[in-house]
Amino acid sequence: MSAGRYAPSPSGDLHVGNLRTALLAWLFARSTGREFLMRMEDLDDRTVAGADRRQLADLTAIGIDWDGPVRYQSARRERYDEIVDALTAAGRTFECFCSRREILDAPRAPHAPEGAYPGTCLRLTATELAERRASGRPPAIRLRADVDEFSVIDRFHGDAEGRYTGPVDDFVLRRGDGTPAYNLAVVVDDAESGVHQVVRGDDLLSSAPRQAHLTTLLGDEPPEYWHVPLVVNADGRRLSKRDGAVTLADLAERGISTQQVVDAMARSLGLADEGESVDAAVLLKRFGFNPELIPSDPWVFDPDIFCA
Ligand code: GLU
Repeated sequence: MSAGRYAPSPSGDLHVGNLRTALLAWLFARSTGREFLMRMEDLDDRTVAGADRRQLADLTAIGIDWDGPVRYQSARRERYDEIVDALTAAGRTFECFCSRREILDAPRAPHAPEGAYPGTCLRLTATELAERRASGRPPAIRLRADVDEFSVIDRFHGDAEGRYTGPVDDFVLRRGDGTPAYNLAVVVDDAESGVHQVVRGDDLLSSAPRQAHLTTLLGDEPPEYWHVPLVVNADGRRLSKRDGAVTLADLAERGISTQQVVDAMARSLGLADEGESVDAAVLLKRFGFNPELIPSDPWVFDPDIFCA
């Protein structure tokens, strides 16, 4: 069974931008007869106790449902370690002792993308490696990518055939403190839970070539991607909690109901008219898997739209 998914990081309440992306992921999955999975990406230290329950309650409140139990990445650390160990046994990883600063300061090839790993620890001699190991600083584990770029299918950003090509570097699989990296966990989970359709914000587009490459190295077929336009504030910047009234709870405090938020999101997706009240079932029927209906520009969200 093929599935779509939504995979929030439980670092706080979801804002209108997160909710709109979740709604799109749900519409895409349900309108193509897929299961819809919910996954909490709770591996890193930004995780806030209780945020998962609030996020799930807000997703339910806007009409999103999902199949099976919510999956928590924190419960799967052993599995991620197993995969990193298997890649290591296959000679596909290396230990990296670089600090963030050293990576930024290292000379890199003229066309290497900003922030790409410069390859420092790939070139260590046996003596240097022994010295670094002895220094006591635990290494991060990086993938030996062996490619500079990789093509994925992205139906919003790809060419006529849907192909989008982007850089791949020797990215981190496990951080020095032992935490599995986002790029590893996302790939292992999507592959092992049968996710073949990934709908998420277009801020993650540049991660897709890395993730798809790793998926193929693990012997799986990469998913089809739809990186959807984000919601931005009045200055055109990605919506964030700092923008004020952007979560259902903030908006409720201003007297704005969840229904009003759903209606506004539906209008922003071209799926409802001004003054109309809709629910998720109606949106699903109207969407009917016509992704070309989705506006390609970001939605500029201003909480004052509700004051009119
Ligand atoms: N957990 C990520 C986030 O909240 C999304 C990961 C993904 O959809 O691949 O930004």
